[in-house]
Amino acid sequence: MSVAMEILKPRVAVHKFSSCDGCQLALLNLGEDLLTLAGRVDLVHFAEAGPFDPDADVDVAFVEGSVSTPEDVERIRRIRAHSRLLIPIGACATAGGIQALRNGADDAQWVAQIYSHPEAISSLAQSTPIASHVKVDFELWGCPVSGAQMLAVVNSLLLGVAPRDNADKVCTECKRNGYPCVMVGRGIACMGPVTRAGCGALCPGLGRDCYGCYGPAENANTDALAAQFASLGLKPLDIVQRFRSINSQAPVFLAAADKLRMRGDG
Ligand code: SF4
Ligand code: SF4
Ligand code: SF4
Repeated sequence: MSVAMEILKPRVAVHKFSSCDGCQLALLNLGEDLLTLAGRVDLVHFAEAGPFDPDADVDVAFVEGSVSTPEDVERIRRIRAHSRLLIPIGACATAGGIQALRNGADDAQWVAQIYSHPEAISSLAQSTPIASHVKVDFELWGCPVSGAQMLAVVNSLLLGVAPRDNADKVCTECKRNGYPCVMVGRGIACMGPVTRAGCGALCPGLGRDCYGCYGPAENANTDALAAQFASLGLKPLDIVQRFRSINSQAPVFLAAADKLRMRGDG
């Protein structure tokens, strides 16, 4: 299916799975732009904002959160069946999110340690991205996504063109904005060289390192960055943990962390 479509007033839904709601809030925080958007689309389901009709047929379904329970598996299939385009938003939906740190651990043991009535908890052993369960048409990365990116996607769809996918590195935005490089200038380990653009190099713009919240960029050279981190004095485990963060299940970061661990580096 092409991501481009021409519909005068598309029916839009915003669904939530396991997540912190931050990506939905990014949309709500658009303020006036959200009101303009609401006039151009038919917002049929967005429980956080009011409209509630989870099984409605829609042109575009934005999905926040990861699949973490047996019920989630059934629900995402239902949403797919009712949606012309399905677009996961945010690190939880695109890479399993911070809750995917449990993947590879003993889920039952964690549940028993955390909850006084573990028998009441029904969760899958792994937290997985939406694309692991159903076909997706486009993905918006970030923790959280920026509301402006979501707006840009909807505007593209309204114009009947495919949304722009910027998989370049954060470094390109850093340079474009004229921000000094924290890694070259101050020796601070920065994930920008392997992280997908889209945030406008928010963190380097504030004088701190990128921690990779937008997930892997295209052609990310994780080997070179791991070697650079080592030369800056990071311990092997610290380097592994850089890749095992919010987007730990993104295949490129997962492979980088596994490779370092198999080498006995962390
Ligand atoms: S991606 Fe980040 S901000 Fe968005 S729902 Fe997940 S944890 Fe929250
Ligand atoms: S500060 Fe980080 S993102 Fe910016 S140019 Fe340097 S390494 Fe790249
Ligand atoms: S600079 Fe990196 S960590 Fe900061 S918002 Fe952008 S992608 Fe996320």
